[in-house]
Amino acid sequence: MELYNSLIKDTQGFLEKGIPTVWDYSEHDCWKDLGSSELVMQRDAAYELGASGKGSANYVLFTSGAEFVDRDQILLYGSDLKEIRGDTDFARIVLLRVGILDDDNERVYRILKDIEFAKYHVYPEGYMVRISPENYREQVRVSKQAIHHGISFRNIGASYIKEYKKNVNVLNAKVIFVTASGMDYTGMKDTAKKAGNITNTLTTILEGIPTDCSICSLKGICDEVEGMKELHFGVGSKGTEKGH
Ligand code: SF4
Repeated sequence: MELYNSLIKDTQGFLEKGIPTVWDYSEHDCWKDLGSSELVMQRDAAYELGASGKGSANYVLFTSGAEFVDRDQILLYGSDLKEIRGDTDFARIVLLRVGILDDDNERVYRILKDIEFAKYHVYPEGYMVRISPENYREQVRVSKQAIHHGISFRNIGASYIKEYKKNVNVLNAKVIFVTASGMDYTGMKDTAKKAGNITNTLTTILEGIPTDCSICSLKGICDEVEGMKELHFGVGSKGTEKGH
């Protein structure tokens, strides 16, 4: 089951014009975590990533293919936190190789949701994240003090990977940060929306929606995402694929 692989390929297309800085994951690189959200006041902020008026996107894609994710890494396209001088465009994209995607049962999709929620459990000191799930943006206010202490995407990426890997089903994680100007942030945001649609459709299927594609409100997504219809009619549904 590789529902997200076409979106991974689209993402590779967005990034191919850049040359990333790459760090292998080490737990020692994790930034200090406060365990709960911190308020970084405007007067204490160095700048904002993905601020309003700037490009911003945030999404997670799952795969079982080692050709896409074969190790734990942090990639950065653009300037690192210490080099940024003002509000800037920002995307954070996570590719996860997950071991359970070949198990064809409901548990898989519940686990995907659990894994997605890991992003709400990372609270790096001096790095205040505001996620807007409804418009697929992520905005980060970075404190002057954190910059002074040498914060890097290497540290933030490590913190996310550590959190994702707490779920035993996550085999490898690749966290990609994008701050370079001129990248296709609109395309990334569209991809974020498509990824959200896939995950939500999976959830809806499991909640027992009607099984006549011709009258189903999710038909547009299922027509676009290879494998979705097969998945629906292979997950214990007694429905029919009429209307194709
Ligand atoms: S496979 Fe058909 S019935 Fe199932 S969610 Fe997709 S469009 Fe709806």
